[in-house]
Amino acid sequence: MARARAAVQVGPRRYEVQHFEIPQVGPDDAVMRVEACGLCGSDVDQYDGKLNAMGLAFPIIPGHEPVGIIEEIGPEAARRWSLKPGDRVAVEPTLGCGRCRACMTGNYRRCRIGRFGTRLSAYGFIPTSLKPALWGGLAEYMYLDSSAAVHRVSANVPADLAVLFQPLAAGISWAHREPNTRVGDTVVIFGAGQRGLTSVIAAREAGARLVLVVARRQSEYRLALARDFGADETIFSDENVVKRVREMTDGEGADVVVDVTAETMAPIPAAVEIAKAGGTIVLAGVKGPGVHLQAVEHDRIFAKELTIKGVKNADYGSFEIAINLIEAGTYPIEKMHTHSFGLSSLEQALLTLAGRVAGENAISVSINPVL
Ligand SMILES: [Zn+2]
Ligand SMILES: [Zn+2]
Repeated sequence: MARARAAVQVGPRRYEVQHFEIPQVGPDDAVMRVEACGLCGSDVDQYDGKLNAMGLAFPIIPGHEPVGIIEEIGPEAARRWSLKPGDRVAVEPTLGCGRCRACMTGNYRRCRIGRFGTRLSAYGFIPTSLKPALWGGLAEYMYLDSSAAVHRVSANVPADLAVLFQPLAAGISWAHREPNTRVGDTVVIFGAGQRGLTSVIAAREAGARLVLVVARRQSEYRLALARDFGADETIFSDENVVKRVREMTDGEGADVVVDVTAETMAPIPAAVEIAKAGGTIVLAGVKGPGVHLQAVEHDRIFAKELTIKGVKNADYGSFEIAINLIEAGTYPIEKMHTHSFGLSSLEQALLTLAGRVAGENAISVSINPVL
């Protein structure tokens, strides 16, 4: 029986490379050979042990942004997904139950039951004790359950570029689809990490007339990339952001404000001031448990008739648009990819992504099992 190497998290900040049997496929599932898997902020939180409160049970193979090649596929799965061995796919994290109200209305990412009756029913978060164990993208092979949301990706795209499907889908969801950004709109984005940068692309694709990005002074190298992706102006967060945006919009403000920053709450009262009457604010940054909203003048929201939306992930349509955009090559998205590591260097990869390695300016970091 062939075996697959996998990076296994056995506890907070503790990893091992372990070997697992590659399962035989049944009629309704498949096995994918992982080419690359992207990392994101939640992988760093998982590494730090911050997600344990959500019921995470080790050991786990992390990785929820995988791209790979169909190695073997059952006839039912092949028919459903229109796939055959050798096809390239990107896999969404969520494994919905498929039968609850959320799933039946197309909102499987809001499924509260989960494929296996657990809250964390998603790739990268399922313990290896559940057979066939290969539930994460940080492995040579990954199991594709019948409930997986799978998208075909052109073989012409390099794997390290294809893994950007996940941050780009988030940008499409947060800066385009959820706020319903339209031609001629002004969009202000707080944050210039992977998802801030892809929000710039999404706003441009939606037809925004003016795209402004706010980030910390030490993120200047990211703001330069934001301008490459089509941002008209960039603003440092220590400037008077509200005043600057008013100046750049002739006092009108923004139709859409997107906050993707982690941990800081400063963008939210600023967003309430920046948004024009009838505008939409998307809150998509993770601020950490126990962090409460303060310093927002309530009556401003009421008087300006603002829409404030929390969004945590991307829907199926956003993933499709993201993959089409990567295949089209319209934007120099490859500039986001800064680092690739092998399975045994996962800890170094996470520290690099988290900005904890001196001298490394990471934006997008991927794990390639063949390295
Ligand atoms: Zn992620
Ligand atoms: Zn469900």
